[in-house]
Amino acid sequence: MKLVLFFLLAGVFPGWSETRGATFAPITLYTQFQQAPPEGVLQALEDEVESIMAPIGLRFEWRELGKAGGHEVSAELAVVAFQGRCDTAGLMAYSKFEGALGWTHVSDGQILPFTDVSCDRVREFVESGLLALRAEDRAEKYGRALGRVLAHELYHIFAHTMRHGSVGVAKESYNVRDLLTDEFQFQAKESRMLQTSRPRHAVENAAGSM
Ligand SMILES: [Zn+2]
Repeated sequence: MKLVLFFLLAGVFPGWSETRGATFAPITLYTQFQQAPPEGVLQALEDEVESIMAPIGLRFEWRELGKAGGHEVSAELAVVAFQGRCDTAGLMAYSKFEGALGWTHVSDGQILPFTDVSCDRVREFVESGLLALRAEDRAEKYGRALGRVLAHELYHIFAHTMRHGSVGVAKESYNVRDLLTDEFQFQAKESRMLQTSRPRHAVENAAGSM
């Protein structure tokens, strides 16, 4: 019995280093910003999500929600709302911080593909660290921090889990260093979950039906 179980599991969980990425269709991310972000922040944000997810085999197409037509067909999608002001103006060395950096919507125990990232809270959380950087590096590092928070929320959506990892992008709470350090990735366990737990159903005309 144990042997059968083992083989079943082995079939469901192939090595995560296999190049399965080529077989996954890109996931469409519809973004909505309360205030338009500076180009440098937006670029660093998208680059970071890609660099965290690409080794796992997840690819993304980014679309602005307001500009999406009703005719796009996406096998998988998520809608991301960025709350507050997504720039690095007016950084302060000492500020109060409270609340979640990002959150994903849940209804009746089902994780919905709707997530929010608080630009204000992420900025307030890391701003003393950003101030220690050269002024010209701040937008990029802040955008990268936003990308890490978004990657965490996308993990909940596409691994279909509310659980957290013990280390890496999937862990429950971040410190300032996690958000500003050069290297921050998923662990192998959460990477496997992202590869194997994703829904296979197609959602057509999702943008038009919202
Ligand atoms: Zn979480």
